[in-house]
Amino acid sequence: MVNLIDGKATAATIKAEIKAEVEAIVASGGKRPHLAAILVGHDGGSETYVKNKVLACEACGFESTLLRFEDDITEQKLLDEVEKLNANPSVDGFIVQLPLPKHIDEQKVIEAIDPRKDVDGFHPVNVGRMAIGLPAFISATPKGILELLRRYNIPTSGKKCVILGRSNIVGKPMSQLMMQKNGGDATVTVCHSHSPQLKDECREADIIIAAIGRPAFVTADMVKPGAVIIDVGTTRVPDPTRKSGYRLSGDVDFENVAPLCSAITPVPGGVGPMTICMLMQNTLQAARQS
Ligand code: NAP
Repeated sequence: MVNLIDGKATAATIKAEIKAEVEAIVASGGKRPHLAAILVGHDGGSETYVKNKVLACEACGFESTLLRFEDDITEQKLLDEVEKLNANPSVDGFIVQLPLPKHIDEQKVIEAIDPRKDVDGFHPVNVGRMAIGLPAFISATPKGILELLRRYNIPTSGKKCVILGRSNIVGKPMSQLMMQKNGGDATVTVCHSHSPQLKDECREADIIIAAIGRPAFVTADMVKPGAVIIDVGTTRVPDPTRKSGYRLSGDVDFENVAPLCSAITPVPGGVGPMTICMLMQNTLQAARQS
């Protein structure tokens, strides 16, 4: 029987655990963790993500601050705002919601964030520390996937794990975490748009983590019976039956793949809710350290 990995329920459990820890900190005279977010412009997806992050802060008992700017903000003004948050002792951690308008160099903004407050884990210092197994803020999506695998007692050590996608925020850090001795301890293969043997690699995988943004890309003929499937993809596809006019589609052909595998994440309700939850965990970690 296929095991549906319920990211929504797991995230709710973790948020309750975080809230209990926060209330204990406050009861013993400590300060509430404080997450700040910078949102530039009015991109629909970014607005939703940031709104959900603010709601998650409330659920965890955190203080939150949302700083909004129009999309004509200059790069220098944005860097100044980052500097203010770096220097603000009340803020434990902050994020700059991506993507940023074209005239702003995203990498420059990421590198301006104090690594001790970089709860997204995108700063090269955190990426490098994570890569060599030192304590670091770990990018929320891969961290959430590892947490889901652990909480569902899915064995990863010595397993063959195929990761589809090599982005800086998902594929690359996921591959690092899955290969590390104190992480997944798996044998990892990363495939991307120039991998000719991608289907063959998938067919041999015990675990497939798909993060490419191509709806229903992973089909039943690519999956070994009994494999574990983690679907990171969230692509908006038009759906006139929905009020919003779209629905979210994963990278996996869920209907035909689910009956084959031992465990699978749905979209939505799988990896997505865990991502925000891990941002909360990182913020709690920042608050403990500050
Ligand atoms: P990205 O930066 O666009 O990277 C996509 C990766 O997939 C690239 O490495 C690309 O290869 C590879 N790829 C694209 N088409 C491919 C194909 N036909 N065959 C093989 N590889 C292919 O995307 P991302 O930011 O990692 O996000 C991936 C997906 O996850 C998106 O749907 C995104 O919305 C979703 N996501 C979800 C969450 C969540 O919390 N649920 C968080 C982050 C992202 P090249 O490197 O060769 O171009």
